[in-house]
Amino acid sequence: MIRTILWDVDGTLLDFHAAERAAIRTLFTAFGLGVCTDAMLARYSEINVGFWQRLERDELSRAQVLTGRFEQFFREIGVDPQIVPAFNAQYQQALGDTIVYRDDSLNVVKALRGRVQQYVVSNGTIAAQTKKLERSKLGALMDGVFLSERLGVEKPNASFFEKVFSGIRANDLSTIMIVGDSLTSDIQGGMNAGIRTCWYNPGKAPVPDGYRVDYSLSDLRALPDLLDAEGAGGRRDVAEQWATCPR
Ligand SMILES: [Mg+2]
Repeated sequence: MIRTILWDVDGTLLDFHAAERAAIRTLFTAFGLGVCTDAMLARYSEINVGFWQRLERDELSRAQVLTGRFEQFFREIGVDPQIVPAFNAQYQQALGDTIVYRDDSLNVVKALRGRVQQYVVSNGTIAAQTKKLERSKLGALMDGVFLSERLGVEKPNASFFEKVFSGIRANDLSTIMIVGDSLTSDIQGGMNAGIRTCWYNPGKAPVPDGYRVDYSLSDLRALPDLLDAEGAGGRRDVAEQWATCPR
């Protein structure tokens, strides 16, 4: 039976791209950089994902990611990268100004309170996540928040999860499940940690080779029912029932 959910935030509980787009557009105006077009936003998003994946692989430090992504983006669009430190500092705050829930995540988390323990596990910065969790009211519903910047190690490293397990005094890993949208940080992290994995996969993409996805959800509102069915036993049958994508 699953008794503990580890929640990813960006792209899972909250719509990260909506916040990212709004924050960058606002800061382009604030810094007098003109209009940030959809094509520019799409390119920035691509650069950003690449930098975070290099952090997950321990190829870059967090500081290198935060400034490097904007330095590369600004160079490509012809903006002086000298403004990057100031731009990034304001960006961390601006990210928390736009709160858009994925599916009905706030009510899903509310509905699960008392049934399971719920914790945030995020690689986002302390500055951005603290503001987002407060403004979204998700933080107050959680039993705890674990941010890699505070722990000093990122998802998907096993040591990130070891620190979480020690913090929540977990002794039975089979009762813990991570729910997240990223194969490289959340699902790989769950695999490294030896817990169950639930891929939040709204696009219903096929599971690539090499990943152990125990459950796939295209809509977070199905999670309470998944837990009901899973608690009744027959985990594999349930996995089939709830699988929303080819496995
Ligand atoms: Mg995510």
